[in-house]
Amino acid sequence: MNIHEYQAKAVLKEFGVPVPRGIPAFTVDEAIKGAKELGGPVWVVKAQIHAGGRGKAGGVKVVKSIDDVKTEATRILGSTLVTHQTGPAGKKVNRLYIEEGSLIEKEFYLSALVDRETSRVAFVVSTEGGMNIEEVAHDTPEKIMTFSVEPATGLMPHHSRQVAQALKLTGDLAKQIADILPKLYLAFTSKDMSMLEINPLVVTKDNKIICLDAKVDFDGNALYRHADVVALRDLTEEDDKEVEASKFDLNYIALDGSIGCMVNGAGLAMASMDIIKLYGSSPANFLDVGGSATKEKVTAAFKIITSDPNVKGILVNIFGGIMKCDVIAEGVVAAVKEVGLKVPLVVRLEGTNVELGKKIIKESGLNVTSGDDLDDAAQKIVKAVKEAA
Ligand code: GDP
Ligand code: MN
Repeated sequence: MNIHEYQAKAVLKEFGVPVPRGIPAFTVDEAIKGAKELGGPVWVVKAQIHAGGRGKAGGVKVVKSIDDVKTEATRILGSTLVTHQTGPAGKKVNRLYIEEGSLIEKEFYLSALVDRETSRVAFVVSTEGGMNIEEVAHDTPEKIMTFSVEPATGLMPHHSRQVAQALKLTGDLAKQIADILPKLYLAFTSKDMSMLEINPLVVTKDNKIICLDAKVDFDGNALYRHADVVALRDLTEEDDKEVEASKFDLNYIALDGSIGCMVNGAGLAMASMDIIKLYGSSPANFLDVGGSATKEKVTAAFKIITSDPNVKGILVNIFGGIMKCDVIAEGVVAAVKEVGLKVPLVVRLEGTNVELGKKIIKESGLNVTSGDDLDDAAQKIVKAVKEAA
């Protein structure tokens, strides 16, 4: 789960990590009021969206008067920012963050993430701050330093010395980084983050190290133990279809292909997506309805799939083990009765109660093509979509 920069900074501040003072604003008036409260003489007006690259897209402005705070807040709020992370449609700005301006001496990059290879929290540090780290990794990999932390000992002083050396920090600045790093690690682990990115981490002209930007992603599977984190969720930043799916506890991920998929079991869902690709089309979503789905859940899933304008055909692929084919059939029929069916539908049912499932679909009078097996079903839906186009 992602949160906004201002929320991430508030979380880090709880752990004693230095961040600039700032006030979030939902209106231009709030932005002006916030700026007056901060006092100036320099402010930064920052668009709050769940995507990076705002600076280059005009979503981060350093200003020197309340008038300019007003001008920039008016311009940015409600506008759509297109950055390299938003996709071509961009993201609408509904919130701003007004921050006290900092005088920057140097910009660094620092991030922490769960490294699946080592099963540890790994840090990535670079002198090339404020830049796109993927580009740095590609062009000048020698400027990136990484290390992972042994969970039993936690972050150790030698890690901080390593980071200080990589960033060429000495004296008081080395002391500051040695103070900040364990705090970042503690914030990461105690809040069950999956990613924490500070880009840039800066040294100010008056020799203070602060986090000028903060991007945090939390492990969705650990949210049950962080009610405070869940409260930070901004649904307007998320895909409507994924939000709807999460209400029904469906494992759904929106993709950009044209064939909607309803499958039980993550492995079969992956295989279905692969085989759609193999036959020359691409999936509009990943969806695992799970083993214990009810008719209501299946109905909700089908509605989510049909609500996607990119969906030009639907493949239902069920291998009934714990999941019963008749439940799936009832859900599909109920959903079609409610929302209609404007695209070809291929259903492949196999396993528990398969005869009953097929009977329900047959007697519903729906225009459904049945698939004999995964291969046959995939070929049929790809063909049907091509013919309809
Ligand atoms: P991003 O573009 O979405 O990553 O947004 P950032 O928060 O990283 O801001 C983009 C850039 O704006 C930073 O890399 C800085 O160079 C600049 N910036 C942000 N805050 C300040 C500030 O307080 N003072 C100055 N001088 N520059 C800032
Ligand atoms: Mn940034």
